[in-house]
Amino acid sequence: GIEKYAGRVALVTGASSGIGAAITQALLRHGLTVVGLARRVDRVKALALKDAPGKLHAIQGDVVDENSVLAAFKWIKENLSGVDILINNAGVITEGDLTSGKTEDWKRILDVNVLGLSICTREAVQDMLSRGVDDGFVIHISSVAGHIPPVSSSAAMYMASKHAVKTLLEGLRKDLVAKKSKIRVGEVSPGLVRTEFLFNMTSITPTVYDTEPCLESEDVAEAVVYMLSQHPRVQVHDVIVYPTGSS
Ligand code: NDP
Repeated sequence: GIEKYAGRVALVTGASSGIGAAITQALLRHGLTVVGLARRVDRVKALALKDAPGKLHAIQGDVVDENSVLAAFKWIKENLSGVDILINNAGVITEGDLTSGKTEDWKRILDVNVLGLSICTREAVQDMLSRGVDDGFVIHISSVAGHIPPVSSSAAMYMASKHAVKTLLEGLRKDLVAKKSKIRVGEVSPGLVRTEFLFNMTSITPTVYDTEPCLESEDVAEAVVYMLSQHPRVQVHDVIVYPTGSS
């Protein structure tokens, strides 16, 4: 079970809100030491749970800013030995209409969801390998959007970014096998989750949270706990979670 990771260090990116916040609190309840990274660090600090056995550290960081990621890993190395589990959760969606969307909006999606995730993955895996952490874990928070064709033009760039996450996961697994490492990797792919995610969209408005079936962030955290709870020989590749009543 997940007890084997009690006291171990999990880095959760995008911990300040929604799914990342729920994962942070779930791991604290299971006794992990959680480093929550986000730009809005005060919101991460507010996640500390009095009665949970795990310890929370909040780090202000931007996954797109390589120096801030490197600084976070340095702090973890110096203060907590290193990262045993990486949860790549930070992600954004912006208007991405393919015939009229703005380059800066597309860039934001690709920077955070693809490049930021890759920078964090590289740093975490290097750290695990250098310390001989054979039960390390990397989990990407992807989306059902990474498994199906674009549902609309305005979501296409976001969906492309999540398809990229899936491809990067396959590549990472191959890389780790080549290195004869037992570090496990996987992704959780939720459907619609009630968070702040769609707040800066105009074509899809947050009212979908009132009209469409939604998951809660805790449901996604539960899938992460499930993956971490498996026997070391079991590597769950993907947990796709739809809200009941949606397709
Ligand atoms: P929220 O908008 O509630 O949270 C997004 C989180 O990402 C925030 O904590 C934000 O922190 C963080 N973040 C964004 N940009 C950066 C950055 N540059 N550096 C560090 N952190 C960053 O959305 P969700 O919780 O819903 O989204 C979490 C993940 O779940 C995303 O990867 C998303 O694609 C995925 N997902 C969401 C679904 C949904 O319906 N909500 C469905 C399927 C997948 P801060 O702004 O403080 O930096």
